[in-house]
Amino acid sequence: MSDFSGRTGLIVGVANKRSIAWAIAQQADAAGARLVLTYQNERLKENVEELVPQLTTPPILLPCDVSRDEDISHLFATLDSQIDGLDFVVHGAAFAPREALSAPFIETSREAFRTALDISAYSLVAMARGAAPLLAKKGGGSIITLSYLGADRVFPNYNVMGVAKAALESSVRYLASDLGAQNIRVNTISAGPIKTLAASGVSGFSGILQVYRDRAALKRNIDTGDVAGAAMFLLSDWSRGVTGEVIYVDAGYRPMGM
Ligand code: NAD
Repeated sequence: MSDFSGRTGLIVGVANKRSIAWAIAQQADAAGARLVLTYQNERLKENVEELVPQLTTPPILLPCDVSRDEDISHLFATLDSQIDGLDFVVHGAAFAPREALSAPFIETSREAFRTALDISAYSLVAMARGAAPLLAKKGGGSIITLSYLGADRVFPNYNVMGVAKAALESSVRYLASDLGAQNIRVNTISAGPIKTLAASGVSGFSGILQVYRDRAALKRNIDTGDVAGAAMFLLSDWSRGVTGEVIYVDAGYRPMGM
């Protein structure tokens, strides 16, 4: 495994022990990284505080609602005064109003569309802009985000989140282009379905899990550890020549014809 000692990483998107971001935090911590974890609100702060004792190195905990510019500015101003640069950023925040994940896509309201795209796609742009100077301080670094195949293909009830993931993946390419000259890489992991808090918002999600189990090349669902393994590759120097990419961690569902 890569040695992350001496590295500092910001991880956004830990809600509870099932969060993909939490699995990434655990693996990065085990590899020796020092972490900054953010929480969305006071309610989730308690969850994150309960998880923290499982990490070897006590992380810095800071609030950040990614839909609020002032939270993002405050986060990076605080980090600038507390740490000497960042080596990596994990963006694992997404949200769409529940009704938009059960009604037909054609019914998506302007407000639900705006919220989903704001929190699930624009937030990556804002976070990358805030993090870039801190990553540049370390001579470059790696930013990853989390996507889903619903960006390219239609899945029942994924709806506006699929549109948001398409915007997210496109943003990854534009950010990779903007930040490449500073040796900052930007990639996304497109994960197969996993039962998490966010996934529970998608109506009929267990049906999607079953289809993956039946059809994926590996004949199983993935877990958050599978995603964290690929994340460690993308956050480490092993992937130093990779940027602007979507890496699929889906037990081989995508390549199958049927
Ligand atoms: P999760 O519910 O554990 O994580 C989603 C996170 O988004 C939570 O920590 C939540 O606090 C955060 N969030 C939502 N709105 C926010 C806001 N305004 N400000 C700050 N944070 C906010 O679920 P997860 O499945 O671990 O999701 C992580 C990422 O992985 C998401 O981008 C999700 O779309 C993506 N993903 C999930 C799956 C899956 O099947 N679970 C598959 C592919 C991609």
